[in-house]
Formats: sequence, structure tokens, C-alpha cells
Amino acid sequence: MNYNTWFQCSEGCGQTYPLTEVIYRCKNCGGLLEVQHDVEVLKQRSAADWKSLFERRYMRTQYPYGSGVWGKKELVCPIVDDTNIISMYEGGTNLFWAERFGEQLGLSDLWIKQCGNSHTGSFKDLGMTVLVSMVKQIIAESGNIRAVMCASTGDTSASLAAYASAAGIPAIILLPKAKVTREQLIQPIANGALTLSLETDFDGCMAIVQKLADRKDFYLANSINSIRIEGQKTISIEIVQQFDWEVPDWIIIPGGNLGNVSALGLGFLMLLELGIIDKLPRIACAQAERANPLYRSYQTGFTEFHAITAQSTQATAIQIGNPVSIHRAIRVLKRFDGIVDQATEEELADAAARADRTGLFNCPHTGVALAVLTKMVERKQVQRDDRVIVISTANGLKFPDFKVGYHNTVPGEPPPRYLNAPIELEADYEGVLKQIGAHLDA
Ligand SMILES: *Cc1c(COP(=O)(O)O)cnc(C)c1O
Ligand SMILES: [Zn+2]
Repeated sequence: MNYNTWFQCSEGCGQTYPLTEVIYRCKNCGGLLEVQHDVEVLKQRSAADWKSLFERRYMRTQYPYGSGVWGKKELVCPIVDDTNIISMYEGGTNLFWAERFGEQLGLSDLWIKQCGNSHTGSFKDLGMTVLVSMVKQIIAESGNIRAVMCASTGDTSASLAAYASAAGIPAIILLPKAKVTREQLIQPIANGALTLSLETDFDGCMAIVQKLADRKDFYLANSINSIRIEGQKTISIEIVQQFDWEVPDWIIIPGGNLGNVSALGLGFLMLLELGIIDKLPRIACAQAERANPLYRSYQTGFTEFHAITAQSTQATAIQIGNPVSIHRAIRVLKRFDGIVDQATEEELADAAARADRTGLFNCPHTGVALAVLTKMVERKQVQRDDRVIVISTANGLKFPDFKVGYHNTVPGEPPPRYLNAPIELEADYEGVLKQIGAHLDA
């Protein structure tokens, strides 16, 4: 089959460019570029054949098709040669029934998609494997790329550094100083990336990296580069596959730069176009109240959008005031009858801690999504029997200070609702037994 894919201007001027060109915006009109596929060729395979192809490959060993992303290669990036693919078997993350947490909220069919159980601990791996593989292909075709680079709130940089070092390509990382966790900071350092901590916020790092991107020999890995979206699209395909090709009712996803919510929508739209599904879920995008430009736009029925200066939030990966994928995301939310809601610092921390009590270990961004879900249940926007999926975007182990801070009493302040502080006591049998008794009888 002659599968094909290319960049196309999203602003309607229709200009196309090859994926091997180092370009992020349309030369005609400055519009963002989107990856397009030759859908007519994809449609020549029946829905049943696509499903059985994906099933045969899923989580098996044949490289690279056992990867959750590359198992869907034809729908993701068919033009990259298998020999240039850099995969660490991303995707294939667990989707599990959160029975106890759902019960507490009043939901019988709540599921969590653990995208953080991945090579570098966040969903960013899904897109980065595609981007770095494309760069490897460009270099193989004698393109002059000396390094890949990104600005990051911590997870994009971890992912880029890992895949770039697996490919043997130098990586340049721009991070806002003291605004990423220690765990996120050490990842690119360990992988040998040039790691620059700048005295600014994410949006400040982004401004500099965009300037650097004028040089064609540094390849930009931020989500303004829509190649990553193609890999992240597989989140939706994988969810549907994990449910034996049934479409859920609702998906709740945290949003910052809004690439992931866009990817989620585009994945479902592609499945619909190929006849693999026959309806769409509804999507709720969850923002931190302190970094909520999309929520504010939603309040105007998406007629207005204003970039803001994001305030400091525990949900650091979504502390973004000027999201690059804003227009893509709004298009997706309109198509999916979507909603946007927000969570305060207290709400997101309580929601994460409450769900942790039922066996999870949530990152703060997942806490934002869980807090929004809680409000949706209270508003009766979701019904008891609705099948609801929460996208958990990162592994909680990357955010220990968030948890340590929560389970710590501050003198003079009321304790958090789900506090579970460690108790220090003498190494004495009677004393230990007394504490256990007091705990179990409480
Ligand atoms: C990147 C990231 C997000 C936000 O995704 P966007 O595509 O920027 O909206 C949410 N949570 C985590 C943990 C992330 O790393
Ligand atoms: Zn254009």
C-alpha cells in the first residue's frame, strides 16, 4: 500500500510541505501546520482488517510493532523507515477499573488510563518516539540537523532527552529554573542532554526556543511541531482497543499547552473516518484555576481567547498561559461537545490524595482531572452508569514533594482532608500495639 503523510497549513490556505522539511509554520500565512494522511488509501483496508492487524501486533516482540505507537504505524507516520525508528515500546499502558474510587464518587464504570507508566514516566513518550524517529530519517537523508531541542515544564524534556540519546542525537533542553521537580530535572541530565535552567517561566523558555528554531540546524521538539500529535493520537486508539473497540461516554484529560487534548480528539476522528468506531465520546478538558486560559475562553463560548500569565500551581506541567495548540483544541472540543472546567490548588490536591487512598498514586495534573470529574458528578453531568475514562498523564513518583507537602501538617493551618502523617514513636512493643489499636478502632 502507498500510505502517505505530509504537513498541511491548518489556516485554510492549504499549502503542503513534506514531513522531512524543517518547518513549523506555513510560509504563506504563518499558520500552524498539521499532519495529514492519505485517508483514501487507509480506507482501502476494512475496519475489521485494521482491528485484527492492531490486535496481532499489540504488545508483541516484533520490532517496532509491539510498541503501542508503532503498532499503529500506518495511522501515525507511515513514511518513516523501520530502520530509523527509535522506540522504547511506549504505549500499551494499563487501563484499569477504579472500582473503589468510582464507588465513592457514585460511578460504576470509572477507568484510569495510566499514561505515566511509560519509559520516562509521562505520556510525552508517545509523541517523542515519532518526532525523534523523523529526525533520524531526516539526518539519514542527509539533512543538516545538529541537535534537537525543546522548552519544557519537565516531562517533554525528559522524554526528548531519552529518545535523543537512544538515537545518538544531541539534545538541548530549556527549563524554567526551580519550576520543575528534582526527578524531572535529573532525567535529561542523566541522559546527557545540554540542560539549561533559565531565570523565567515556561512561556519565557518557549520564546527563546522559538527564536532558536529559526536556525534550521536545531530541530524544535515542542508541540508546535505537530509530528508529536501523531504519536499521542494513539491514546484514543489504544483506549478503544482495550475496550474491545467500544467507545466510552466521557474522557477527562488535563490540559496545558493543549496538544494532548487535540491529539485525543484527532485519534477518535481518524477511527471514525476509517469506520472502526461509529460514535464519538464527549471530552472534558481540566485546567488548574491558576493557569486557565482555555477555561476563560470556554466561558465566552470560545468566541474569545486571551493569553494570560500563568500563576504558580502545583500542577507544574500545565502551568501555561499561552497554549500553542489553542485553536486545535477549541476545534476538537466543539466537535466532541466538550466542556472545560478548572480546579483550585486545594481541590486538585484533595482529589489526588482521595484517589490515592483507593490505591492510586496520582500526579497533580491527574489530580486536576479527578477534581473536575468530582464536580461533573456533583452537577450530574455524568451519570452513574456512564463509562468514564480519566487520562492520568504522569507517574506520581515524579512529583514526591507534592505528596510529601500534602501529608505534612503546618502549625496554625487546618490539616488537609486526607492527611495521613507518619507517627514517630519509641521502638517499644506496647507503644506500637497501642498505636495500631487506636488506628484500627478509629
Ligand atoms: C505535558 C503534560 C500535560 C499537558 O499536556 P498538554 O499537551 O501540554 O496540554 C499534562 N500533564 C502532564 C504530566 C504533562 O507532562
Ligand atoms: Zn498557510
